[in-house]
Amino acid sequence: MNLSTRDAAVLWHPYTQHGTGTAALGIVRAEGALLYAEDGRAYLDGTASWWVNLHGHSHPYIAAKVSEQLRTLEHVLFAGFTHQPAVELAERLLALLPGQARAFYSDNGATAVEVALKMALQYHYNRGNGHRRRLVVFADSYHGDTFGAMAVSARNVFTRAFWPLLFDVTTIPVPVPGREAEAVAALDAALAAGDVAAFLFEPLILGTAGMVTYSAVALAELLTLCQAADVLTIADEVFTGFGRTGRLFACDHLPPTAPRPDISCFSKGLTGGTMALGLTTCTAAIYDAFRSTDRTRAFFHGHSYTANPVACTAALASLDLLLSADCQGDITRISAAHAASVPALAAHPAVGAVRHLGTVLAVELAAGGPTSYFHSLRDALYATALAHGVVLRPLGNVLYTVPPYCVTDAQLAQLYATLTAMADVALDPAAAEAALLTQAVPTIFEVD
Ligand code: PMP
Repeated sequence: MNLSTRDAAVLWHPYTQHGTGTAALGIVRAEGALLYAEDGRAYLDGTASWWVNLHGHSHPYIAAKVSEQLRTLEHVLFAGFTHQPAVELAERLLALLPGQARAFYSDNGATAVEVALKMALQYHYNRGNGHRRRLVVFADSYHGDTFGAMAVSARNVFTRAFWPLLFDVTTIPVPVPGREAEAVAALDAALAAGDVAAFLFEPLILGTAGMVTYSAVALAELLTLCQAADVLTIADEVFTGFGRTGRLFACDHLPPTAPRPDISCFSKGLTGGTMALGLTTCTAAIYDAFRSTDRTRAFFHGHSYTANPVACTAALASLDLLLSADCQGDITRISAAHAASVPALAAHPAVGAVRHLGTVLAVELAAGGPTSYFHSLRDALYATALAHGVVLRPLGNVLYTVPPYCVTDAQLAQLYATLTAMADVALDPAAAEAALLTQAVPTIFEVD
């Protein structure tokens, strides 16, 4: 029995309606930007395996470092103990993050956000400002699936069953072009109440909302308002960190005079896509609000695998690769190729808008119905990509690619051709039907 069949008998997959979906594809190995399925087919990983992979799969440099670490120290509790990979990773990352002085490890993106929220709230509490417990977030934001992360994310279908249990937050519009003043006014009004603890945001790109982009100048204005009101700012760089936006971090696009965030959250690309690891960094002022001879002022948060040495080692190896001239060149190359693809994609009759920032390219379809995660064509679009030997999971009617940085020029051309083929489907209901039928038997992608 193959993996797909065995899986179907015992597994429950994330974000999957098993009553409608086809079986999960069994992947037996992966190398570079390609995933090899159990039936011998290869798929180009156009979304970097949920936005985590930076340097290609099964990278030999990361594998060697991880395997050495596994034989040296695989794990140790992180309360009362420390180790070289955790210390070195914190030292190296903090040196790249202006204003950030302390690093707190956790397990994934959602927990990095949970840590940030708890840090911000207890910061005010420890300083005698416990009345500051309101959080301001962007409408349509997404920060993860744990309860705190759900509470600060959009009230949409993802969280509908839990709405009554989620704490209340204030939402402001995303300052997309033309709505900057509205966002400023909404933040201003929220701050006036004097009860805001922090403003949490996805810097420059709201990923899950559909790769919605806004400018660094607009963000700078919001950060300035918060700073003046003694309100902490929290950048969720879980998706945008580690080169995705063309710079090392999305906040590196901020104008030099803009305030930097007080707290930043990282995961996904942190380990290059090798291991689960979360990281929350903060300023010295925040850390100092917890440091005391009074034990009750400590930060009571931790996970069994906090700062796992193998995960930290994967992150260090990924950072070595990321900072290399080769990788920086790849990021520039992908960004230029994406930019060059925009005019043709934007001219496609099914396309409403094309958004591009760094290695992120998104194509919003106007045809086939209104923008929605449950867009009627979503499954046909996904099937079309698979039929082209490419993994591109659309966010409803928003098609996008965030390739691993090792993607070749030929593979980039394959991605743009696939995006075009997906847009073609939106114009042709018969093609959409046909695409759904081919999903079970995708064609073979020729490996170049
Ligand atoms: N924040 C952002 C901006 C994200 O995009 C995501 C995941 N897509 C998360 C947090 C949650 O990360 P994780 O899935 O690792 O919990």
